Amino acid sequence: MKPDKLLQTVGRFAPSPTGPLHFGSLVAAVGSYCLARRDGGKWLVRIEDLDRPREVAGAADLILSTLERLGFEWDEPPVYQSRRIARYKEVLKRLQAGGHVFPCACSRREILASAPHPGEEGPVYAGTCRQGLPPGRSPRSLRLRVPGDSLLFVDGVFGEVEQCLASAVGDFVLRRADGLFAYQLAVVVDDADSGVNQVVRGADLLHSTPRQIYLYACLGWPVPRYVHLPLALNAGGDKISKRQGEAATHHVGGDGRVLAQALRFLGQEVPAELTQAPPGEILRWGVEHFCLEAVPRENRIACIDEAAAVCI
Ligand code: GLU
Repeated sequence: MKPDKLLQTVGRFAPSPTGPLHFGSLVAAVGSYCLARRDGGKWLVRIEDLDRPREVAGAADLILSTLERLGFEWDEPPVYQSRRIARYKEVLKRLQAGGHVFPCACSRREILASAPHPGEEGPVYAGTCRQGLPPGRSPRSLRLRVPGDSLLFVDGVFGEVEQCLASAVGDFVLRRADGLFAYQLAVVVDDADSGVNQVVRGADLLHSTPRQIYLYACLGWPVPRYVHLPLALNAGGDKISKRQGEAATHHVGGDGRVLAQALRFLGQEVPAELTQAPPGEILRWGVEHFCLEAVPRENRIACIDEAAAVCI
């Protein structure tokens, strides 16, 4: 047996508290839970409340209580990113000491003007401040210097994914102009500190993964396994999001039927008679039967039973 097979799987669910739990997030919770527990692993919850201005008061508690009512059990007290700022500072210092970080004076408008081709997530940073700040300019953000070669990883659902950080995103922000630490840094520090070795989440983060893998490499930390799940779309074809003020039906209550729907969304053949079972039983079925090979790659409109997904 290879030594890494002896390592216990540690999975996690990392919702942002920008609203109540919605069906799109539930899919990530169900997938990460079943895949961690199937292997006898641990499952952790982290509240990604770094971006305080976007946070909705009470949403974190609401998400946790909904998860609890649906039968999820986490092995450690939830981690709150907002309480870990000192740790992000420390890791940023380490990256700075390693020569990976540079201050950048560019505003959003300047970056837009200097980036001829849009990348996957907006303009690609042209490297304006890479060799030092232009005369008379003061630093706004801190960026990580990225390499010019391609990075390849194997995703549990999407297979081989290749990205050249330099051409797809450019040197990326670790600390924003408003002083907030960027998601890309926080997620790596948090997952590494919690011993997470299996990251299961929505496919909207597939193209963030090479940035995160590169950060692991800069820090000399072991890279987790990645599994990206198809996204649940609303009737308009957009990702279901807490921020868009989605129809109440996309918010998830404590009715177990929505768990069966999330499992079916992930290609799992939940027996019809289980649909009416208590949540804990449906989740247990998922843990015992979850088949990664059955998970489709395509994002799809979520056909969820309105009676089951009640607003809370
Ligand atoms: N906080 C992110 C979200 O709610 C997930 C981040 C992650 O799983 O890495 O979409």
